Amino acid sequence: MNATIFKFPSDIASLHSHIQNFHEFLLERGVVRDPREFSYKVTRPSERDFTMEVTNNVVEFNPIVLKQKKCSFEYYLSIIFHELVHLWVHNIPNKSDAKRVKSSFANVTMRQFDVEADTIVAWYLKEIMDFSLIKYYKLLIEGTRVFGDPEVSSGKVERFIGSLISTARLFVDTNSQNRLYRPTFYLPCLCNRFDASVPILVQYNGYHAIANRDMSNMDIDRLRGIYVNADEARLSEYGCVKDMVDFVAKVLELKIPLPVMRELSKMR
Ligand SMILES: [Zn+2]
Repeated sequence: MNATIFKFPSDIASLHSHIQNFHEFLLERGVVRDPREFSYKVTRPSERDFTMEVTNNVVEFNPIVLKQKKCSFEYYLSIIFHELVHLWVHNIPNKSDAKRVKSSFANVTMRQFDVEADTIVAWYLKEIMDFSLIKYYKLLIEGTRVFGDPEVSSGKVERFIGSLISTARLFVDTNSQNRLYRPTFYLPCLCNRFDASVPILVQYNGYHAIANRDMSNMDIDRLRGIYVNADEARLSEYGCVKDMVDFVAKVLELKIPLPVMRELSKMR
């Protein structure tokens, strides 16, 4: 992996301008309406399990992941941005809020919020930080290598697959720079499968629908393997990204654009 390793604490200083740029992008696209002001700070690395914590108008980020495991600046930004979407867009800033969402509206609602946050972050990375689909998928692979957990629940695999599909749709959409563009969100349900067809909850233009798409057990096992980082020894970064691209092309019934294929083959 040739990503730049996040330098702690010197890179922290640039976080504020990234947060401001992300907020401006969301305001301009009409995703954020609330002009509420927050102040942002990075705490000392804490062993307590949180990435972001909000008290009144103060937002604190825990940089423990940078201390324990090396990750790139882009990767750290992407997890901070994900949390900020939970704060600014969803109004579920803290772990206790997410717990309340799960107990009130079931776990699947939180998965929808997570897919939405991942996709909105990918939208910014594409439009403002010049990310391609391949570069974004490499970032996801980095995430599996930082957070990969063999004990992961099937719900988290559903969310991972949902984010893969939603972000692929976003990266191949050619009108995503348009101010009126809205991403499409996909969340599959991997339980209750009687054949190869998997129901997917689709949110398009603010409306919900169900799509049924073919996903074999082999497809799902392969993606689960990538997500839990079980295949690191067997699968190269290229192998993982290729499996992800092949999978989304099949589910979205897409012909992958030539520049994406070229960038992928350069990874070999
Ligand atoms: Zn989340």
